[in-house]
Amino acid sequence: MAGPDRRLVQTAVIGSAASGLGIVLPQGADELRRLRRRHPAYTYWCGTQLGGCGGKLADRLYADKVCHFAHAPNASCHRRANGTDSADHLFVKQDLARWARGGGIDARAVLRDLGSGPGDAVDFRVRAGRQRVRFQFRKLSHPEWSSACEELERDAASLDWVFGPGSAHPETVREMREAFGHVLRFRFETQGVARHVRIRAEEARRSTDWVPLDACAMTPEGLRVPGARRLTGTSRRPVAVEPPPVPSPAAPAPRPAAGADRRSGRRTSPLVRKVQRLVDEVNALAASADADVRTTAERLDREAASWVERYGRLTGPDFWSGKATKTAAQGDGLAGRLEKLARRLE
Ligand SMILES: [Zn+2]
Repeated sequence: MAGPDRRLVQTAVIGSAASGLGIVLPQGADELRRLRRRHPAYTYWCGTQLGGCGGKLADRLYADKVCHFAHAPNASCHRRANGTDSADHLFVKQDLARWARGGGIDARAVLRDLGSGPGDAVDFRVRAGRQRVRFQFRKLSHPEWSSACEELERDAASLDWVFGPGSAHPETVREMREAFGHVLRFRFETQGVARHVRIRAEEARRSTDWVPLDACAMTPEGLRVPGARRLTGTSRRPVAVEPPPVPSPAAPAPRPAAGADRRSGRRTSPLVRKVQRLVDEVNALAASADADVRTTAERLDREAASWVERYGRLTGPDFWSGKATKTAAQGDGLAGRLEKLARRLE
């Protein structure tokens, strides 16, 4: 039995060559007739955001074979991916935009061309909370993944990777499982002329169900997938995470041991680590200082401890309501005062 003809153009963008509105052409004649009736004004393009030539496409209707898009007879096109899944990067961008709007969150999803086209990866960036989520489409070698981590972690409070089919190197999967207990994967489901992303967490021996973005939550510590057990801190004990909107205690921010390695560091917020590092520094410097300075240092130490606890208790809904942003700002202010005292003592 022959598989689908991969050379047939199954996806396009609607409206213009530069459009980001993807569409999957129905393969059956009846569905295509219905689409034409419902949207007579649609124009289809071999979109630049699909890595296409920008040419106009016709929707070819066949009763006896698969319907598909077709270029003008003399067009020259070097688009690499034409199959049903070739607009998935545009669909995840749309899903992410809808998800963020629904949660009242100020975030952006951007396409990343890693050398083979605009569909290599999609980065989701939350502005205020500085969470980052990378949806990886193109296969990455392990060193490529490591260096992408460096890039994405810069100035980020959290970084989550969600891998598409075949995009993660086995070594990367091993490292992710060691650090987080699981690796996040995505796939797509076709619904009419669109496709929608589904996510799950895969441990070595079990996986959660495939769920839409709406079932996931963005927390100060990153993307949470319902049912995923996430390793936290140095205890490596899995912490059960409930799906939103059921309030659930977020994983408490652990106090990392001095010199905690980069891998375990990824599991705590950089802001928490910064505050804890400054408290340690101030405590060391204040040990030999005057009584009034020691009192100030002790007060800041207590304040920091209660802030770290408050930060650790933040949940998904707190993030959406802006409470998390406020708490992060308090942490920033606290870090500033600790830094000032440390400089005075040096
Ligand atoms: Zn083309």
